[in-house]
Amino acid sequence: MPRSKQTKGICAFCGAEIGKGTVAKHLARCETRRALLAQSENESRAAETLYHLRVQAMGQNEFWLDVEARGESKLKDLDRYLRGIWLECCGHLSRFSIGGWGGNEIPMSRQVQQIFREGTALVHIYDFGTSSETMVKFVATRRGKPTNTRPLALLARNVMPEAKCIECDAAALWLCNECLIEDQVWGVLCQAHVQTHPHDNYGKPVRLVNSPRLGLCGYDGPAEPPY
Ligand SMILES: [Zn+2]
Ligand SMILES: [Zn+2]
Ligand SMILES: [Zn+2]
Ligand SMILES: [Zn+2]
Repeated sequence: MPRSKQTKGICAFCGAEIGKGTVAKHLARCETRRALLAQSENESRAAETLYHLRVQAMGQNEFWLDVEARGESKLKDLDRYLRGIWLECCGHLSRFSIGGWGGNEIPMSRQVQQIFREGTALVHIYDFGTSSETMVKFVATRRGKPTNTRPLALLARNVMPEAKCIECDAAALWLCNECLIEDQVWGVLCQAHVQTHPHDNYGKPVRLVNSPRLGLCGYDGPAEPPY
C-alpha cells in the first residue's frame, strides 16, 4: 500500500477542504453546520451527550474520518458504519478491543457513552485473516441535539489520496490486482493505460475508491458513507 503525506479532509457539512488537525476548529465556525445545529435545537427531541470521535486507519495516515456518535449508540453501530464506508468485502468477522490483537475485546452491545472518555482509544479489527485495523479515539463531547436521527453523523473525511499511473504519471483511476498479488506492485493505472494493460489473471482492474481496504481481499468499494 502506498504511503502519502496527504492529510487534507472535507467538511461533511459545507464541503470545504480542511486540515486533519483543524477539524474541530473548522466545525466550531462552519456556517452550514451552525445553521443545522440551530435547526436541530428547535426540534422536540431531548438534549443528549454527543461524542466526537476520530477514526484512523492504522498504518495509513491518509485515511481518516471524524464522526459524531450519540451517547446511546452502540459499538455495533460504529462497526456497521465502518463496514459501510470503508471495509465490507465479504462479511468477515470484526471486533473492538483496547490494545489491538492481544487486548481485551469489548462487546458490540456496549454503548459509546460507557466506553469513551478523555484518552480512550479503541482498535477495530475487520477480517481476522487479511485484516484491516482502525483506531477510534475520543476527541470531545458536546451537550445538545443530534443533527440526524441515526446513531452517528459524519463530520469530516479525508480527501481521496491522489495516485499516479505507473506507466505515465497521469492521474490513476484503476488498480490492477495481478500487479499487486504477483508482483507486489501498487499497479495503479490511468484511463488510457488500463485499456492496454496486459494483466487479467485476477479479474478486471478495480476502480480506485477512498478506502484503506483497497487492495485487500478483492475489496472494490463503493466506500460511500452509509448515511
Ligand atoms: Zn464546514
Ligand atoms: Zn473479504
Ligand atoms: Zn497512464
Ligand atoms: Zn497489472
